[in-house]
Amino acid sequence: MSQVLGSKELLAAVHERDLCIGCGACVEICPYFKNFRGKTAQLFACTLPQGRCFAYCPKVEVDLEELYQLTWRQSYAGTALGPIRQILAAAAGPGMEPGAFQGGGTVSALMAFALKKGLLDVATLTQRDGLIAAPLLVTDWSQVAKAGGSKFMAAPTLAGVNSAVRQGYQKIGVVGTPCQMTAVAQMRANPLNKVEHRVPVALTIGLFCNWSLDTRQLNDLLEGRVALDSIRAMDIPPPPANVLVLDTDQGKMEISLSEVKPLIPHTCFTCLDMTSELADLSVGMYEGREKWNTLIVRSETGARLVEDAVKEAFVIVEPMPEVNTTHLANAAAAKKERSMRILIQRGLINTVNGTHAVVRMPSAAMEKILPAKK
Ligand SMILES: Cc1cc2nc3c(=O)[nH]c(=O)nc-3n(C[C@H](O)[C@H](O)[C@H](O)COP(=O)(O)OP(=O)(O)OC[C@H]3O[C@@H](n4cnc5c(N)ncnc54)[C@H](O)[C@@H]3O)c2cc1C
Ligand code: SF4
Ligand code: SF4
Repeated sequence: MSQVLGSKELLAAVHERDLCIGCGACVEICPYFKNFRGKTAQLFACTLPQGRCFAYCPKVEVDLEELYQLTWRQSYAGTALGPIRQILAAAAGPGMEPGAFQGGGTVSALMAFALKKGLLDVATLTQRDGLIAAPLLVTDWSQVAKAGGSKFMAAPTLAGVNSAVRQGYQKIGVVGTPCQMTAVAQMRANPLNKVEHRVPVALTIGLFCNWSLDTRQLNDLLEGRVALDSIRAMDIPPPPANVLVLDTDQGKMEISLSEVKPLIPHTCFTCLDMTSELADLSVGMYEGREKWNTLIVRSETGARLVEDAVKEAFVIVEPMPEVNTTHLANAAAAKKERSMRILIQRGLINTVNGTHAVVRMPSAAMEKILPAKK
């Protein structure tokens, strides 16, 4: 693995540079790091020179070449969407329990099916209490739908993976954002090479993500305007809507994105991955078609799961029109380019002078993302 240091260096490179996204990967592995109301903090100093906190963090010294080799047996090339077997239109089928899903319910249906069939013994999902997101461990497939719906706040989901490991689960499933999928790829690599650190993840479903929102700032913005415990669901409809919609017990409420976008943590603007390139399967919205999703099949495990879930009517799939695939690739390439410019500007990529990089990658990949002529 690339250089692994300790929590002191993690605090300096990530927290002090305002890069922490609160993913939870450093929580529940030691008594020191905790996540409270969306923020991760160290409660007491730790003097160990190396720790899993540093090694798992998706915001410091992420070596994309190494992670690509470990996950995909290929080089990181900076392509817009990462490794793809198939891109499909998908939705939950009649075999799945109904639920308040974000789009077509593809994520919930595939996780439920994987639990039902014994591919997983636990699924790590994300639940919401008001506007605070938290991990949820589910072992019974019929309970997966409970976590349906997007929580647009950054969530400490991966603390749930660490507690699943502590509880002895051997086939762990995880749903998460691209930064969380990066952390999970690092967890699976067992960077300190200790048997007791093994993280037995059997399936990852990554979400598409352009940005998330700072939990505390969102709570501050909405407190007094809406009863937080009455929020049933959140949605960001595609352009030109330009609003965050809250579905509450009192009805729907719209908040302009111009009020919401200032709450995006800076760290999201240094994030290169829109489609969870390191996950077995990646799922996002299907623009222009409600109650359906875009599904990227990446790994053999993912391909087999989708095939079996289709046979048993847990999901339905259709070919994805080429125009949508092109649009998706353009959006993902644009995110990479925007973030690459900021990474370069802030000196956060491929550093050589002792300053910690957020990310490392081969120079050919950098050129692919940001061609010299642009
Ligand atoms: C912060 C965020 C930003 C997103 N941005 C985009 C985007 O730009 N474009 C796009 O196409 N799609 C985006 N998505 C994904 C999209 O909203 C849906 O999650 C996806 O299309 C799957 O829909 P579904 O009906 O299959 O999900 P469901 O079946 O409803 O399942 C949703 C799953 O998401 C998990 N989840 C919810 N909130 C979080 C969270 N904060 N962190 C980790 N996991 C969570 C739940 O555990 C659940 O398993 C985003 C999601 C999030 C959480
Ligand atoms: S592992 Fe996640 S929660 Fe911990 S410091 Fe890194 S980004 Fe923050
Ligand atoms: S934009 Fe990147 S860093 Fe921000 S929540 Fe999404 S995946 Fe994580």
